Amino acid sequence: MRKILALALISIVATIFPFYINYQVQKGDTLYSISKGFGIPIPILLDWNTGLAPSNLRAGSSIKVPVVPGIMFKSTKSISLSELAKYFFIDPEEIVTVNPSIGSTIPANKEVFVPLGKTNTSFAQISDFIWSVYGRITSEFGWRIHPIYGKNLFHTGVDISVPTGTPVFASKSGVVKYAGWMSGYGNLIIIDHGSFETYYAHLSKINVYVGLQVEKGDFIARSGSTGTSTGPHLHFEVRKYGEANDPVAYLPRTTTYVMRRVISE
Ligand SMILES: [Zn+2]
Repeated sequence: MRKILALALISIVATIFPFYINYQVQKGDTLYSISKGFGIPIPILLDWNTGLAPSNLRAGSSIKVPVVPGIMFKSTKSISLSELAKYFFIDPEEIVTVNPSIGSTIPANKEVFVPLGKTNTSFAQISDFIWSVYGRITSEFGWRIHPIYGKNLFHTGVDISVPTGTPVFASKSGVVKYAGWMSGYGNLIIIDHGSFETYYAHLSKINVYVGLQVEKGDFIARSGSTGTSTGPHLHFEVRKYGEANDPVAYLPRTTTYVMRRVISE
């Protein structure tokens, strides 16, 4: 209830001001201290400030800080409010609260502020791995004819179809082991979970860095089509002691938002 009131207040403010403030970086500030001070997770700060990294935070420079945890989302196609909510694993009402005049359809290329919790509460009851995006599986784990090379190659993960810019959430808590370009994978994040690793590939934007601790359900990146890819999707892998396993075996079959396995024809 308190959260709803806070969001309602912000929606009033946001009719006059944008959803962020410009914060002037002070001497001694770190990304961690700014994140703590404003209650905004580091990956969200990095999403709002392209090119920002722990190493290039300069005193006196200005950075954008959203007034509540959340990111701007824009789709090249018109989408329904319920579809948008699914991409964020939240209730449509949470979007309406901060965007009172949004309506049931969001026109193409309209930017919308969408709130994000630190760890998404929709995931709270689900143990172990969770779906990092909401979408159709368009290519399963295993042997397949590669869509670009035309050869029979082993597919080391699953492909989940989502528009470019869709938020990607950590499937399990862990520490970022790799964040950058890798041949074939394009922009790639690898999270170390101990005996397991998860891979998030073809990203349009990476919002974490090596060594960052992330919790299950944390926003970490935006999906895309970088590297060897025929269209926007998330390539997701689960590796156990380095060996690729079928991710679907580890993911919940039913959640608040039921993830159905639909293979595109
Ligand atoms: Zn793939």
